[in-house]
Amino acid sequence: MSDEKPALHNMIRQTYEWGDQQYPWKLFCPICGFDYIHITALKCLRQTDETIVTKEGILVKQCSNNMRGVKIAIQYCCESGHAGEIILQFHKGCVYLAHKVLPEAEVPHEDVWRD
Ligand SMILES: [Zn+2]
Repeated sequence: MSDEKPALHNMIRQTYEWGDQQYPWKLFCPICGFDYIHITALKCLRQTDETIVTKEGILVKQCSNNMRGVKIAIQYCCESGHAGEIILQFHKGCVYLAHKVLPEAEVPHEDVWRD
């Protein structure tokens, strides 16, 4: 696991390289700034139900949760070896953003969409 602190303010940058202006923003690794990152899982935690979407399919499991609202996490790994989750947490009408560095070994290295 990296000791580097993620720089969330550098995570999203404008781009004109793809999508004919339909996608004018690009996501970068918040740890190293590399733009080759792969989405490896999507997670949605609502009450105690967590829905996880990976290459393997869709899993719903029970877990503890002491937060109200909903928590949505985009799990990624970058091609420089970093892994983490970009977390959106809804709380009292606002959405807060956080980042959690994950040990690379905990993150599947397969894109959520590839078969
Ligand atoms: Zn990185």
